[in-house]
Amino acid sequence: MRFVHDSLAQRVRFAAGEAATQLADGVRRLDRSRVMVICAEAERALAERVVGALPVVVWHDEVVMHVPRAVAERARAVAADRNVDVVVPVGGGSTTGLAKAVALTTGLPIVAVPTTYAGSEATNVWGMTDAGRKVTGVDDRVLPRAVVYDASLTVGLPVGMSVASGLNAVAHCVDSLWAPRADPINAAFAGEGIRALDTGLRQVVADPGGLVGREQALYGAYLAAVAFASAGSGLHHKICHVLGGLFDLPHAQTHAIVLPHIVALNAPAAPEAERRIASAFAARSATGGLAGLRAALGAPSSLRDCGMPEDGIAAAVEAVLAAAPPGNPVPVTPANLTALLCAAWEGEVSR
Ligand code: NAD
Repeated sequence: MRFVHDSLAQRVRFAAGEAATQLADGVRRLDRSRVMVICAEAERALAERVVGALPVVVWHDEVVMHVPRAVAERARAVAADRNVDVVVPVGGGSTTGLAKAVALTTGLPIVAVPTTYAGSEATNVWGMTDAGRKVTGVDDRVLPRAVVYDASLTVGLPVGMSVASGLNAVAHCVDSLWAPRADPINAAFAGEGIRALDTGLRQVVADPGGLVGREQALYGAYLAAVAFASAGSGLHHKICHVLGGLFDLPHAQTHAIVLPHIVALNAPAAPEAERRIASAFAARSATGGLAGLRAALGAPSSLRDCGMPEDGIAAAVEAVLAAAPPGNPVPVTPANLTALLCAAWEGEVSR
């Protein structure tokens, strides 16, 4: 065995129902006293619950998916104007993403309180959009110093969004198995992530208000993000980033829809990944395991239903080819990529 593996330095707290005390402790440990809370208007009540008596100097609620550059610049200006010394995002990946955009240029520390399964809080990856193009980068300044995972904050996440977001996390696990820096350590995280998400998401759909499934899903989402941050972006992520940037598609749903097509393309040419995915699902094959979970969850299946124009497929193929990661198990060609995107657009999933 010969490989190099980097681990990211971050304190992670899992404590259902205790976000307020855990967050206060996280901020106190950093010795900070001018908090910028970032939360969308819709998550304001959740955020007020967890922020408690923190010394908040500004509430910022301009949260937009895929972080348009102008939105990032306004948040940075607010942070500078109010002399903020720590950023606390409470919300999904879009909210965490805005906090990261602030940290990227200011170096301010982040203590994150995630409320979806996106996993951005556990990565050093930032993303921003500019003129229909999503740009991403890796920078340790954007990695939150601490994360508070409180499953009670996720019980109000609607089932449809929970399913899409949970499958976004499954995609982090799966794609990390053939990503450029895949190694035995991130593969172990990915396998346990798939197992936890498979168990947790089924419970979430059966009992959306129950904490047991919600906690398993959050635990799986964390493992998924660690695997993804460590292994890097594989073909699946490159495709979803291109689609998100070009057509402003909803992030989690796009991942949920594209994932089975990537597994169908890559798994037959990646026997170790195939075995690990199948075993994590306790299924006979990777495609069969994923299909079983998607059926149980009522997963979304068509990019057409998300608003992608059919005549956008050619532009997407061109953009993905320009960014395709090296070492994908199957060589990426205009033909197989076009077939994949046409099937994902139509909603046909091969098993
Ligand atoms: P999101 O943050 O936009 O949230 C989706 C919807 O869920 C929003 O309407 C939000 O208001 C609502 N919501 C969030 N939490 C809720 C709760 N607990 N109860 C009820 N409603 C709730 O979507 P997302 O899928 O979490 O994040 C997507 C973004 O995250 C994308 O921009 C994506 O690029 C980014 N992302 C980044 C990374 C990374 O490593 N940098 C990883 C994953 C995702």
